[in-house]
Amino acid sequence: MKSEVSIFWFRRDLRIQDNRGLHAALASGYPVLPVFVFDRELTRGTDGPFDRRVDYVHQVIKCLDARLREHGSGIFAEPGTPVAVFQKLCEKYDIKAVFCNREYEPTAIARDEMVRKWAVEKGIAFHDEKDHVIFERDEVMSQGNTPYSVFSAYARTWKSRLSQADYQELRSPVDRFFGFVPPPVPSLRDIGFEKTGISLQPLEPEPGRIANYAQCRDYPAVDGTSRLSVALRFGTVSVRRCVAVAIRYSETWLNELIWREFFMQVLYHFPRVERECFKPAYESIRWRNNEAEFEQWCEGRTGYALVDAGMAELNETGYMHNRVRMVTASFLTKHLLIDWRWGEAYFAQKLTDYERSSNVGNWQWVAGCGCDAAPYFRVFNPAEQMKKFDRELMYVRRWNPGFEIKKPMVDHEFARKRALEVYRAGVQWYKSPV
Ligand SMILES: Cc1cc2nc3c(=O)[nH]c(=O)nc-3n(C[C@H](O)[C@H](O)[C@H](O)COP(=O)(O)OP(=O)(O)OC[C@H]3O[C@@H](n4cnc5c(N)ncnc54)[C@H](O)[C@@H]3O)c2cc1C
Repeated sequence: MKSEVSIFWFRRDLRIQDNRGLHAALASGYPVLPVFVFDRELTRGTDGPFDRRVDYVHQVIKCLDARLREHGSGIFAEPGTPVAVFQKLCEKYDIKAVFCNREYEPTAIARDEMVRKWAVEKGIAFHDEKDHVIFERDEVMSQGNTPYSVFSAYARTWKSRLSQADYQELRSPVDRFFGFVPPPVPSLRDIGFEKTGISLQPLEPEPGRIANYAQCRDYPAVDGTSRLSVALRFGTVSVRRCVAVAIRYSETWLNELIWREFFMQVLYHFPRVERECFKPAYESIRWRNNEAEFEQWCEGRTGYALVDAGMAELNETGYMHNRVRMVTASFLTKHLLIDWRWGEAYFAQKLTDYERSSNVGNWQWVAGCGCDAAPYFRVFNPAEQMKKFDRELMYVRRWNPGFEIKKPMVDHEFARKRALEVYRAGVQWYKSPV
């Protein structure tokens, strides 16, 4: 006789408490078999064997497995494709249902549809829950029932809809996991990866830090932001916990959490923005796309101290402070006139907190071609930005020693004028092509 189980399929929700899909699975009436798939489709697109994200997720899965073993269970973790792993589990267990949390990116939606179809064909129920966001899909819409493309209006409606129930944390019973001895979690090397030196990030918002967020967040030398982006990306922290802390300690920080949801809903409603400018006029910009210059930018050799420091921080750690992300992205798209998609792809390769919707959304915002974007004629001056936000030069000294003797690869005033001309010509050409 096969044991009857419900499966909980962990993906980007790697925690036991306040996990809505897991909570639903634990209430299903069947013991819950936790599963994680090192999905080949996803790991194939990584930055070689030294990928910080895979290393990070692997460490989290091992921690979760250890915790579940304390309750007589564990995680069945395997490399492969979800359908192949579930198919294998079907041979051993009588699977009654698969539970997971909903995702909103086009590739994730397509993958989940495939699993749903497979489950239906097998007579297995498939349930997905809302977990990664406070509001999803059509829950925050304009009065005309259309998706928002302006952040301030979206945030206003988001806040007006919020009630305590939306960020109420769930406590789940931990005695309803399936009792079994799972095979050991495969090693990083078994799944084709190597250790990178990344260690687990903070998993909870710290009230003191959040209370000071508004004063500190723009200064890259100050450790003044939450550093929760990786935890939010992989769900080791619950967004409801973050919102509860934000409401208590910082409206400014709450707004950042809303930006995250804003870009998620933009990608959900306008999947074309993965590859196209939200504003079609900007597709007519004649990017210079000079490969040698792109390489200089990637390697932090532009001669602009703040830009190079940011790229060094990214290359060495997989993280870059938000202010510096804006400056480096602006430099690439405006000073060098390189297509935002090149920069987006480079960040996607390097950022441990890489989130497709946020990365695409912010790149387009900086390039001027996205939702609610800054007007294109606002070009960051990297030297002025440094004076304003790194006055003591602590950040640039840390990441870019010897910056004083490096020569700028392009003159700021020249590059600014060139950017304005090229952007203007592109947008005008779209309006009246000749
Ligand atoms: C060009 C560019 C690319 C970016 N790419 C990503 C990305 O791939 N993944 C990512 O998580 N963030 C991205 N951001 C947004 C932001 O830089 C990071 O979320 C932030 O620096 C992470 O540090 P933190 O956790 O200390 O953030 P905090 O400042 O403490 O903010 C808290 C959380 O709010 C969310 N958040 C903050 N700012 C933004 C924003 N502008 N847009 C969307 N969500 C936000 C994040 O989840 C963040 O962890 C990008 C910004 C720019 C300008």
